[in-house]
Amino acid sequence: MKIRTDFGLLWQSVKQMGAEERDFIFDMENPQDLEIDDQLERGIEINLEDLETTGGLLSYKGRQILLYIPDQGRRVSDVIDNPEVGRKFHVADCRTLNDMRGKGRFERYVITNELSGVFKVSGQDPYSGYVEGEAALKVCKNCLSHLNYQGYQSSPATRGPIYKGFTLDAFFKTYSTKFRYLPKRGTNRKGAYSEDWAEISRSFRASKNWTCEECLVNLGSAKNLLHSHHEDGNKHNNVTSNLRALCIDCHRKQAMHDSMTVSRADMDTIMRLRREQGLLAALAGWDEVFELIDTAYDGVTRKIMLTARALPEVFGDIQNGKGEVVITPQLSWPGQKYAIVDNEAELEILAAAGWRGDTVATVLQQ
Ligand SMILES: [Zn+2]
Ligand SMILES: [Zn+2]
Ligand SMILES: [Zn+2]
Repeated sequence: MKIRTDFGLLWQSVKQMGAEERDFIFDMENPQDLEIDDQLERGIEINLEDLETTGGLLSYKGRQILLYIPDQGRRVSDVIDNPEVGRKFHVADCRTLNDMRGKGRFERYVITNELSGVFKVSGQDPYSGYVEGEAALKVCKNCLSHLNYQGYQSSPATRGPIYKGFTLDAFFKTYSTKFRYLPKRGTNRKGAYSEDWAEISRSFRASKNWTCEECLVNLGSAKNLLHSHHEDGNKHNNVTSNLRALCIDCHRKQAMHDSMTVSRADMDTIMRLRREQGLLAALAGWDEVFELIDTAYDGVTRKIMLTARALPEVFGDIQNGKGEVVITPQLSWPGQKYAIVDNEAELEILAAAGWRGDTVATVLQQ
């Protein structure tokens, strides 16, 4: 496999940015095949049978993707004028996709991880013939319901705002820990920060004893996971009163930070440190659960909250008969020996340890 990126230059610029933001993870064991990302950015044609899913989300070779149908038929010109009437793009393995699979519909399906929200569309217009253009297609509502995205299932009143406020950046950010490789992002951050930012940020975070001001996790042992956040959004306003030390998880949850993703490994580090430091013990209510769990479990947590009789344990270890830790689910109820896990393989691990469980996908579909 050929790696075409000059990582020396990359790390140099990462350093200039204050070693805080990364555009993709560099996994030594599974180096990211950037060829696939290039192809995905342009769009790859796929058969519905070849579509992979992860916890109800659509995936391709370890990456989160969305699927759309470029052909808008006779309405293509209308769609270019008013994307609301176009065919929706899909972000989950929803009912509509299932129906299409069942009917064996023959269409050109394209998958992509390009997050601009602008899609190449085409069709046969009855007046002007074959038309090609671009349209900001809308997200499929069945997909939002399938994932209970931002609590979409809970009440009809909230559905409109969630649908209208949907952005691909925020959506992909929510689930970034579920995928091995994160999508490429625009890298025009040069000049976004002042030249002395790396040093300002370092001494500011040191003055906070490397502790997140939101969830209180101490990151002295993982300093790169603590950021200096600009309260007013102006990255040149570096006065102390405008800065807040935030762990990368609390940072991504801030408004206007939709392009800030967290990798699975970094999220696990933060969760492990939060647990070791006693921050996950004795949660006072569901609000605290939502503050502390990985956002990828937000939809399933909102769902289970309606029927759960007790608060879950967040990121609790489950041991087998020999006292070995076999799995650490985001949500578990030790009293009932019940946990919510990602897939069938993890259900088997639970069963072998004498626990019951459901997968995220099952709970969301109940
Ligand atoms: Zn859908
Ligand atoms: Zn935090
Ligand atoms: Zn920030």
